Amino acid sequence: MKLGTEEIAKYPFLTEAGNYLREKGFTLEQFGSDSDLKPIIELAINRIQTAADGKIFNSDFSIKNLDKEVFSFLIAVILLKQSGMNTLIKRFSLSEARRAEKFLEKDLVNLHTNDELAIKIIKDLFSMNVTKSGDYFVIPASDYLMHAVHFHEQEWKLVNRLVDGGNVFLSAHEAVRLIRKELDNYISKKINSANIPDLPESFRSSINTLLDLAKKFKVQIIETTEQPPCVKHALEILSKGENLPHSGRFMLATYLLNKGQTIEEVAPLFKNAPDYNEKITLYQLKHLAGNFGSGTKYACPSCEKLKSENLCFATPECANIVNPLQFGRKKITNA
Ligand code: SF4
Repeated sequence: MKLGTEEIAKYPFLTEAGNYLREKGFTLEQFGSDSDLKPIIELAINRIQTAADGKIFNSDFSIKNLDKEVFSFLIAVILLKQSGMNTLIKRFSLSEARRAEKFLEKDLVNLHTNDELAIKIIKDLFSMNVTKSGDYFVIPASDYLMHAVHFHEQEWKLVNRLVDGGNVFLSAHEAVRLIRKELDNYISKKINSANIPDLPESFRSSINTLLDLAKKFKVQIIETTEQPPCVKHALEILSKGENLPHSGRFMLATYLLNKGQTIEEVAPLFKNAPDYNEKITLYQLKHLAGNFGSGTKYACPSCEKLKSENLCFATPECANIVNPLQFGRKKITNA
């Protein structure tokens, strides 16, 4: 499919965008040395910084800026790959996935035929067949189940959806929401597998800017000798700056609070979450710790519940326990 510049600017992670610099007659050396191109490097860093702050980059689609939009994404990918900062790569991928989600949703709503780009992206990249029918987006139930498998909220259960003739009927927002995680993974894989030539020395200061930026995401992990695997896994995800689902954050917070950690000790662990907000985190932790209302402290979810949420990473040491709080406490009995 031949894409226009605006389409590439909306979805710069598509293969079609890969050769954009060369097609437009630019080399990396030029970006490093030509002062006229400096604003693009700055825009690329701004794009990464925005993602690092947990926000979504605001695109400018005026004709004169379309090239800049594409270039800034491609340069950001090059800088990120070169910096090797996984925390920033993860944050950038998530932010860019959210950005693309907005365009996909809009494009689905404005769809005229079922062979337009938004449908093609969803089908080609994520193997999900979508067709528009009136105000709905129709997906075969088998495709729906394949993508909804990681959603635990009741609203995503098939019984709570509009289903007819083996198809599920969704809004544009829901159809796109279904592929959020996969879009995020797709972009991060693209960055990690990008084949980047040696960068000219002139890029050094931009790389250093990213290395400085990544420093603020270093988290001090609370070390205890007896952490269960599910808790270790959740801490690992956070330390890498990856997104821990809300159910995972709930488990981690309730576990640590019930183990006697203070709110002040637990709160900094979440500062790497892409949507981190200090005020909200403290409020939620106080709520979990029982500082409001009836004063009831929330319990840590059971192992069974965590298993159903794909948060359990049981090892033989987990034998015979029903709650992570028992880990290391209960002796293994021989039958
Ligand atoms: S069995 Fe329980 S403690 Fe062990 S990893 Fe699973 S949820 Fe955590």
